[in-house]
Amino acid sequence: MTQLFAGLGLSAELTRAVADQGYTQPTPVQVQAIPAILEGRDVLAGAQTGTGKTAGFALPLLQRLAAQANTSFSPARHPVRALILTPTRELAAQVEESVRTYGKYLPLKSTLIYGGVGINPQIQALRRGVDILVATPGRLLDHVQQKTVDLSRVEILVLDEADRMLDMGFIRDIRRILALLPAKRQNLLFSATFTDDIRKLADGLLHAPALIQVAPRRNAESELVGQRVYPVGQTRKRDLLAHLVSEGDWRQVLVFTRTKHGANRLSEQLCRGGIQATAIHGNKSQPARTKALADFKAGAVRVLVATDIAARGLDIEELPHVVNFDIPHVPEDYVHRIGRTGRAGSTGEAISLVAPEERSLLNGIERLLGRRIEQHVLTGFESGPEPASQERARQTQPARHASRDSNRGRRPGRTTEPVNHGRGSKPAREPANSDRGRDGEHQPATNAGQLYPSSGKTFGENQPRRAAMAPRGSREGRWAPQAALLNGRRRAG
Ligand code: AMP
Repeated sequence: MTQLFAGLGLSAELTRAVADQGYTQPTPVQVQAIPAILEGRDVLAGAQTGTGKTAGFALPLLQRLAAQANTSFSPARHPVRALILTPTRELAAQVEESVRTYGKYLPLKSTLIYGGVGINPQIQALRRGVDILVATPGRLLDHVQQKTVDLSRVEILVLDEADRMLDMGFIRDIRRILALLPAKRQNLLFSATFTDDIRKLADGLLHAPALIQVAPRRNAESELVGQRVYPVGQTRKRDLLAHLVSEGDWRQVLVFTRTKHGANRLSEQLCRGGIQATAIHGNKSQPARTKALADFKAGAVRVLVATDIAARGLDIEELPHVVNFDIPHVPEDYVHRIGRTGRAGSTGEAISLVAPEERSLLNGIERLLGRRIEQHVLTGFESGPEPASQERARQTQPARHASRDSNRGRRPGRTTEPVNHGRGSKPAREPANSDRGRDGEHQPATNAGQLYPSSGKTFGENQPRRAAMAPRGSREGRWAPQAALLNGRRRAG
């Protein structure tokens, strides 16, 4: 039976705003979160960007605040009643925009606070009175220090992408912020993964929460995302990428690198080779990040090179190509990355350029997916000899690897051959991702890489994540309601 927004208990103002967006059916996370939040319950939700989670918390939050909204223009009548914390500026901006969009028929005011931009306009906005504050933790604490924000009247707290916030070293900032909030409040925690640290945070924060679990909107099992691996030597990756972009006439490509420096270097090199590219990462100023994203969306640049953290929360519609220039150290990041393509019912392609030394990382990803990714060898770009351990792993299940010798004398990029490969050994525990530090605001202590380990558990851990959402062929029916509500019980482990 088709579930409607009004059936979830949302008011006419909110259902109208939702209808204006063209949404006809709530997503699984919305079906579960909206009634629980309207009841005033705390929520612990396993959902990431792309599942419709923002509306899942924003709609009921708006409704609860609207019940006692003050129509007075006096700033004093508009204390901060809801605080939404996000790890990155881009996500904060998107969330605040959603709050505005969904709340357009309600007399509630929202504002946005993040670092990398001047603090004064934010101070002015806070002075004018704000009901809903969307903020990144570092800049919020700057305001606390300057006494330009008062959090003593907060009724609802949302921690959005809590795993990323911990991953980025925000835990101390979050604890400092929690200490400033009234004890009696509603707490909503959204996280894509559930590490022990998230559980610890949730245990201390949430009171008898409704537990909600939904799978990513799109994951590796999506038929809309074609996945390919190109074995290639590290030093040949850039040429191979340029070749793929040019030969395939790719117009919009999101490329992931592991480091900010690597993102800069690659985008510069591509530009020098005549392919318009730009980089987006935490060291760039906010105006530069906004421009990079706008240029990419508008088609002014073909290649956007991003680090995982910068790309997190970006909702770019109909992205046809995603390239893993570096293979992520955390297998779940692969799923997040490729979830950027194949949207809106269009087919997408996720390409991974795998150097011999990254083979163990690929094995880890394939274990998470529960299947192998098809390999293609592009003549002239083949990778060199593999590390001995990988060679051994292959011998247990011989690969139909295109012989290097047989390719001799052919022109580079001439043929593509699908190749099977054997399963390797367990991926080694990897060093911290060098981008898992900051989002360019003030510096908290960072325990980068410790809190989002490959052992980090997801809801339904040790299972390959299954797509819970139907393809987005149309606005309605984009999500099949397969999500499971855990009936208020915390899942063990
Ligand atoms: P989010 O996971 O909150 O980042 O949302 C991902 C995208 O889904 C956003 O572009 C929303 O506008 C869109 N969206 C959210 N809820 C719905 C819905 N019920 N039906 C269709 N689209 C939705």
